[in-house]
Amino acid sequence: MRLKALTLNGFKSFADKTKIEFQPGITGIVGPNGSGKSNIIEGLRWVLGEQSAKSLRGGKMPDVIFAGSDTRAKLNRAEVEIELDNSDYFLKKQPAQIVITRRIFRNGESEFLINGKTVRLRDIVDLFLDTGLGKESFSIISQGRVESIFNSKPQDRRSLIEEVAGVLKYKKEKSRAQKELEETTSHLNRVADIITELY
Ligand code: ATP
Repeated sequence: MRLKALTLNGFKSFADKTKIEFQPGITGIVGPNGSGKSNIIEGLRWVLGEQSAKSLRGGKMPDVIFAGSDTRAKLNRAEVEIELDNSDYFLKKQPAQIVITRRIFRNGESEFLINGKTVRLRDIVDLFLDTGLGKESFSIISQGRVESIFNSKPQDRRSLIEEVAGVLKYKKEKSRAQKELEETTSHLNRVADIITELY
């Protein structure tokens, strides 16, 4: 699988629709300080399902929308889209070309799409879980991340290793199933109480 293109529209400093096409091989992005290099990587992490505004250097999620400049009014919507070449079917059960879109509006409303079809954030997160490409994956190393991995708590380092080993997905599924089991047990207890009251 290969990242073919990233399109930022109203995201952070990218007020105008900006499409970056990645050719096979290595791509370097250069520019003066503050020109938006980190914003590009943050756009990539955001479309892959980033849920922490703080890790995108904002207070709340709508802060990713272009906030205006001396010459331009602020915008009310941000959109980031990635095109993936999946012709090797690295992502199983997915078509050869995948387009993922994420939008956010000033009122905090969000939209997520896979190939133009509206999905939940969870569907995007699940798509990349254990592939090494998720929002917190080790394939995107931001400034200071190496240091933070070395200084992190053993438990946090363990989840990183678990993602590499591909077990994180099963752990998440287990915890979801356990939660459902607890809810069902509580419903069953309630039913048992009602039965006792009736007899
Ligand atoms: P450096 O080389 O110093 O790390 P960089 O090229 O990575 O810089 P970024 O940190 O990506 O640059 O970009 C910072 C710029 O983005 C700042 O000028 C900041 O004002 C602008 N910016 C961030 N968020 C927004 C926003 N929501 N609206 C408008 N501009 C924004």
